[in-house]
Amino acid sequence: DPQLNRNYTFENFVEGDCNRLARSAGYAVAAKPGGTSFNPLMIYGGVGLGKTHLAQAIGNEIKRALPDKLVLYVSCEKFTQQFVDALKHNNINDFVNFYQAIDVLIMDDVHNFAGKEKTQDFFFHIFNHLHQSGKQLIITSDKAPKDLAGLEERLLSRFKWGLSADLQIPDLETRMAILKNKIYQDGIELSNDVIEYVAHNIDNNVRELEGAMVSLLAQSTLNRKEIDLNLAKQMLKNFVKNSAKEISMEYIQSLVCEYFEVPIEMVKSQTRKREIVQARQISMYLAKAHTKSSLKSIGNFFGGRDHSTVIYACQTVEDLIDTDKKFKGYVADIQKKLKMS
Ligand code: ADP
Ligand code: MG
Repeated sequence: DPQLNRNYTFENFVEGDCNRLARSAGYAVAAKPGGTSFNPLMIYGGVGLGKTHLAQAIGNEIKRALPDKLVLYVSCEKFTQQFVDALKHNNINDFVNFYQAIDVLIMDDVHNFAGKEKTQDFFFHIFNHLHQSGKQLIITSDKAPKDLAGLEERLLSRFKWGLSADLQIPDLETRMAILKNKIYQDGIELSNDVIEYVAHNIDNNVRELEGAMVSLLAQSTLNRKEIDLNLAKQMLKNFVKNSAKEISMEYIQSLVCEYFEVPIEMVKSQTRKREIVQARQISMYLAKAHTKSSLKSIGNFFGGRDHSTVIYACQTVEDLIDTDKKFKGYVADIQKKLKMS
């Protein structure tokens, strides 16, 4: 199955207080897909904390023990893309039939459904069909169902039917265990003080922890130096520096347009269609907040508008953030994506 990554197994998903409930629920689901009350199983948590790994581990384990089961892993983005393509090519029936035949559906990153109402509707029906047929659903998201902004209430209520289990930031001991497991997998040797130093200093997520390790190995090869505490300290300096990239207006534009499913060139056009105006105003607001561009150059970039238009857009967005909870959620979501890049 090309959708599942064989490296994401339970075996190399290190257990800790941060993931114990989610991990054992995942294990139970893998042993009896569709046959526990954990349906759907919802795994949530911040970036790089192991949602995809754990969800895929469940899929891999089911494939191993029950090879006849049809397991599908799909990211919310890919599902959305498939849906849009199916609409375009008049293939909706095939699309529905394909998804309804699956025994275990793993849908990754459902927070990305925010703002995509048509796709959500569609997923809602697939969800119901599978659930009613006793098929297993495994869902991941960056927040608990109750905090997911921009998702339809009826879909959220389905997510609450089963079990929600979160992944938290691992404590120092678990971070060290993860690093040790990783270097063991890669056949590398590292002294304990280096492991401890890295685990101590990289403390927000597992992906960065692994990134730091990769960067350390690269520097050691490049400089033909042994990995010792000094090299680790130097690496960490560069590592932190590199992660503070600059955000461009182009990038903001592409992120906002993707989020609201509007064609990218439209925000620069003269159209006053509501959804385009909203995307344009949010883009301007984010450009003001996250770039060093002047009001004049922001206006210029978003379709040759003057600085008062930018001020008005920022004001409008701020007002809506104060008064409209759904809108506030949209902006917060996009802002989070910006910061992740
Ligand atoms: P998320 O989907 O939550 O953003 P990922 O599942 O992509 O996070 O995990 C990021 C990286 O960290 C992956 O390489 C994954 O294998 C690793 N990882 C996360 N949690 C663990 C864990 N408990 N044990 C081992 N590796 C982990
Ligand atoms: Mg993921």
